[in-house]
Amino acid sequence: MSATECIFCKIVAGEIPAPHLASNSEAIAIADISPVAPTHYLILPRTHEANAVALHRSNPTELSALFALVDELTQREAINDYRLVFNTGAGAGQSVFHAHLHLLAGRAFTWPPG
Ligand code: 5GP
Ligand code: ZN
Repeated sequence: MSATECIFCKIVAGEIPAPHLASNSEAIAIADISPVAPTHYLILPRTHEANAVALHRSNPTELSALFALVDELTQREAINDYRLVFNTGAGAGQSVFHAHLHLLAGRAFTWPPG
């Protein structure tokens, strides 16, 4: 998928409205449209890369910026127990091929994941 067709690029650009729960110069946090936990946020890098490792290769500072927003959100909302997920590849459940970090909290999580 090219960046011009990418739904998360459109959200980052403001072409599709989504309230920013937190943001910095390199990433934004939004609520997942279809939450699977009471807290389900998506942390999106502003740059289009297909997955987290591709972002690490092209811009490790921007990858780190995702974690800065996790730090901000979890501190602000006093979230101590949470799960961070990068689904990578369709076989692992990735459906949007713009790198994004799921922040899930507010319920118990099982291991191994489904
Ligand atoms: P993936 O399956 O790629 O790991 O995660 C993609 C996530 O994006 C899914 O949890 C899905 O609910 C969410 N999502 C897809 N389209 C939109 C959208 O337009 N807005 C928001 N806020 N979330 C979306
Ligand atoms: Zn994109």
